[in-house]
Amino acid sequence: MKYFLTLIATAFTLISFAQETHKRTLKLMGSRFDITVVANNETEANSYIDIAVAEITRIEKLISSWDANSQTSEINRNAGIKPVKVDKELFDLIERAIRISKLTDGAFDISYASMDRIWKFDGSVTEMPAASDIKASVAKVGYQNIILDKEKGTVFLKLEGMKIGFGAIGKGYAADKAKQLLQNKGVKAGIINASGDMNTWGKQTNGDDWKVGITNPLNKNNVFALLPISEKAVVTSGNYEKFIMLNGKRYSHIIDPRTGYPSSGIVSVSVFAPSAELADALATSIFVMGKEVGINFINQLNGIECIIVDDEGNITHSKNIDIQNKLKN
Ligand code: ADP
Ligand code: MG
Repeated sequence: MKYFLTLIATAFTLISFAQETHKRTLKLMGSRFDITVVANNETEANSYIDIAVAEITRIEKLISSWDANSQTSEINRNAGIKPVKVDKELFDLIERAIRISKLTDGAFDISYASMDRIWKFDGSVTEMPAASDIKASVAKVGYQNIILDKEKGTVFLKLEGMKIGFGAIGKGYAADKAKQLLQNKGVKAGIINASGDMNTWGKQTNGDDWKVGITNPLNKNNVFALLPISEKAVVTSGNYEKFIMLNGKRYSHIIDPRTGYPSSGIVSVSVFAPSAELADALATSIFVMGKEVGINFINQLNGIECIIVDDEGNITHSKNIDIQNKLKN
């Protein structure tokens, strides 16, 4: 009898602790999101995923420059006119974005959004635009002209026609916030994947770390490395679909805000960092910096690593990343 009771107790423990992994794929912020949570059952998992979706939708309403009702659009409408009071959350995000601009010498710049669209990635650009047109296209770009007033909580774009946009960090920020909220709700493990901007926490139900497969975009089906990501974010930016070929050189849709020229030489960058927001911003920056400068830059930052695939298919990585024994043949 005693043995029988122990057996029942053990079975009960196993059932109550059996954790399941559930995933939902949906479109948010104009992109594909995959939200994965570990929970006791499907109903519980669904309620957690609903919480994450609501959080991402809330952030989109705040930061979208497409939505005329967002605070970001209000800032843009008032460029050259007057400062706009915004939520602390948006103020802080802009402040961090400016910090990254300073760190990257302006390679990263949320005021990229005012650039004249002289580079079209629909096949219509067949020759190099005139140097003067390229220079003129970035006249309104420059993070130095984003004026923050911390006391008043206002943002002012100094030049008329200036605009900010979060295309290069918004998804990473949303992934971080959704993760944070679910952790606060007691969710032990999960992954928020915003089209390649991933943040993870906890472990898989079998006790293993979550892993991310790094692919070579020039050979899409080929995962060349499988890396564990514990409590960290990884972001992959790849611009192998949107590009222009000019004189045999491939130019990507990420543009150097300082010169107006599209970046070239790199087809994919993966950055590992404590947050997806930072990883996202740095991935975009590395495209602009190029391979050598990009690797050097990452090697100077603590706890941040990167893997770069160049347009000839060569793979380079920062010095502390251990991909050698994770490489697949
Ligand atoms: P994705 O991988 O989703 O294409 P990225 O994180 O690589 O996105 O960011 C690319 C987007 O960032 C562009 O589509 C544009 O909106 C914006 N962007 C382009 N150049 C810059 C830049 N130099 N600094 C900041 N944002 C940029
Ligand atoms: Mg980015």
